[in-house]
Formats: sequence, C-alpha cells, structure tokens
Amino acid sequence: MLEALRKNAIAGSVNDPDNAEIYINAMEKLVCSVQELSHARTLEEIIRIVRLAARELTGADGATFVLKDREHCYYVEENAIAPLWKGKRFPLETCISGWVMNHKQAACIEDIYTDPRIPAEAYQPTFVKSLVMVPVRRQNPVAAIGNYWATKRLPSDFEVALLQALADSTSVAMENVTLYNDLQRKIKALQESNDELSHFSWVVSHDLKEPLRTIKTHADILTEKFGTKLGDKATMHLNVISRGTDRLQALIKDLLIHASIFRSSQFSAVDTKKLIDEIVDEDLQVMIKETRAKIEYGDMPVIWGNAASISRLLQNLICNAIKFVDGKTRPHVKITCDREFDSYRFAVTDNGIGIEHEYHQRIFDMFARQHSQDEYPGSGIGLATCKKVVELHGGNIWVESEPHKGSTFLFTLVPSHESGGR
Ligand code: ADP
Repeated sequence: MLEALRKNAIAGSVNDPDNAEIYINAMEKLVCSVQELSHARTLEEIIRIVRLAARELTGADGATFVLKDREHCYYVEENAIAPLWKGKRFPLETCISGWVMNHKQAACIEDIYTDPRIPAEAYQPTFVKSLVMVPVRRQNPVAAIGNYWATKRLPSDFEVALLQALADSTSVAMENVTLYNDLQRKIKALQESNDELSHFSWVVSHDLKEPLRTIKTHADILTEKFGTKLGDKATMHLNVISRGTDRLQALIKDLLIHASIFRSSQFSAVDTKKLIDEIVDEDLQVMIKETRAKIEYGDMPVIWGNAASISRLLQNLICNAIKFVDGKTRPHVKITCDREFDSYRFAVTDNGIGIEHEYHQRIFDMFARQHSQDEYPGSGIGLATCKKVVELHGGNIWVESEPHKGSTFLFTLVPSHESGGR
C-alpha cells in the first residue's frame, strides 16, 4: 500500500518538490492515525480518530464516517465546513456509501449531479459538488469513509489511495476492538465462574467439617472408654478411623483456605517483612523449633496485595521448605527479594530433597504430589493455593530445582503505590 501511495504521489513529476512535500505530510498524518487506531479499544475512539484523520489527510472540505447498520447506512460522524447528514440513516440502495459497501469498491465522483448513483435531493441542501467514498474491510464491508469537496474536481489516485489506507487501518482497528471486547467478556465470565466454584467449594468444605468432627469425637470416646475391653482388631479399626478423620480434617482445612481466596479480596499496602516475622515467630514457631530450622531473611519490600493471601503464600512456601528435607538434614531456608522493572521477584530457597524436572509444573496443580503420605504427609493443595494467590495479584510463580540439591520457589508481586515502589 505504501509503495502504491508513493508511486501515485510522484507519478508524472518525480522531481517536483511540492509533490514530495505533499507526499511526506500526508504520510506523516497517515502514520499518526494508524498508530492512534492501533491503540483504540472502543468503536467510539475509532470514530473520533477517523473523523479528524479522514478530512486532514486529503485536505477535503468535509468527511463522513458511515457504519453499515443491517440494511441501512448510518452516518455516525462528520467533520465538514457545513452540516452534512450526521445521525441520519438511509437505505443501502439509495446512497453512495451503500453502493460502495455493496460493490466492495471505491467511488470517485467529479460531479455529483451527473452521477446516477447519487440521490440529488439529499445533496441539494449541502455544499458538496464532488466526492470520494471508500469501503472499510474491503472483502466484506462494515463501514465506509467519505471525502467531499465544495468544487467540481476528480479526486486524484493519491487521495483515493490515502483514504483507502486509512479505511484499511480502520478495518483492522474495528476487528481488534471486537476481539478485545470478546476477550474481556470471556475473562469476566471465567472469573465469575471461578469465584462461584470457590464459593461452592467453601460451602461444601465448611458443611463437611461438622459431621467429621462428630465421627472423630465418637471414635476418640470409644477408644478412651472401651479401649482395654475391645479386642485388638476393633482397636486397630478405631485407629484407622481416627487417622482417616485426621487426614480428612487437614484436607478440608486446606480446601477451605484455598476456596477462601477470592478475586474480590481487599488490597492494600502489605509489609512483607512484617508478615514473615509473624510467620516465623507465631504460625510456624513450633515446627521451626522442632526441626531446628534456620530461617534467614533481610529487608523485604512493601507490596500491593491482600495481606491474608500473601501471608498464606509465604507460609506455605516456608512450611514446604522446612518439611521436604531428608531426615538427617537441618532445614535452612533463605528468603530474598530483588527489584525487577515494575515488579518484585521473591525467592524462597531450601536445602531440601529437591524436585524432579518433570514435576516442576505439575506440583502447582491441585492434589499433585511427588511423594506418598508415608514419606511426607500433606494434601497437595498448598502450592495450588500459592499459584492462585500469585495469579490473583497479577504475578507468576515457578520453581528451580534439582533432586538432592534443594529448591528455589520464585514468584513476582507488584510494588505498593503508597510505598513509592520502595
Ligand atoms: P503438600 O505439601 O501438602 O504435599 P503442596 O501443594 O504444598 O502440597 O506441594 C505439592 C508437592 O510439591 C509436594 O507434595 C512435594 O512433592 C513438592 N514440593 C513442594 N515444595 C517442595 C520443596 N520445597 N521441596 C521439595 N518438594 C516440594
């Protein structure tokens, strides 16, 4: 298209500096409009850009942007020395924009009163004497762009090519807007269905807690009161029930935590150093003491997020880093954070058993585990919760690890505006 424009512009007078200047000016305007159109996110924005560009490009006395509205041409916008037809609808067969869209080709008219395609009565109240009209989306037009002059003149090939270049960019922009809107609608529907599913899991898990507690209490009462009188087999069965309910209770607790993380959670500035202090001194204090784990961390940033979810994320990762070591090793966990462009990259590194490469992605799925319950107890929900938290905060989470060489879990979060990106 650019080559065609260039050829048209300088055809016949290659060395004419006036011609070259017209060409360069027009190209600059066209490039600006194309750039603006590529950023448009709504049809209104496209209409606003085309309204100005269509007239400026050729220096015409007027320009219109016409949308195909089923069987009608809808003159949605105009920019002219005097009013044209803004806001009016005409049947496709009765006006030149309809002809252009039906025939999928441009129309250049030197004298509108001698062209049978022009309804003279519609033009009589206007200044228009000549025009060019081009289709938007040539294969299957959805709109048309027109240029009008108050004098009789045949629009040059260059003017037609310029206007068609604008129309082609408009067509791409309109398709982008449709795709963008579709995507937004789908994202919204997906988010709503995710929230619904989270809410449903929360309700189910919550309702399961009570009957499970009853089973557990009664199994404990039986063991306590009749333990000695019951035979070995009955005691063994009661122990199985008790262990099973313990596991189920732990599973429900993890499911409830996972389901309680909603997109609509409150966000604020979160001091991650304070959160880690609390996790180490309170939440995981017993585990850290029992395993003699060494937890190392320095300055940590203030990020933008939901404090409870971020605390859960850090707690799960630190807990795993302490848990997944071989029996002889004293756990050593290092938490660091680096600033990267517009986000923070956190890393939780351990000296544990490491993770096979084929599990690096899978362990973030719900219930995915690399080990049996006997080796390392757990529900397989913790990392899925971490992923949910990080993604709700617009970040990424991944692991770098080799078997027997420890693991580093990395994730990104955005800085708090209030902290000034500290
Ligand atoms: P859980 O800890 O309850 O098993 P997670 O979702 O937290 O569930 O972890 C899933 C699996 O990922 C674990 O079962 C384990 O196999 C692996 N894993 C997680 N963290 C580590 C770690 N720091 N070192 C080695 N393996 C890990």
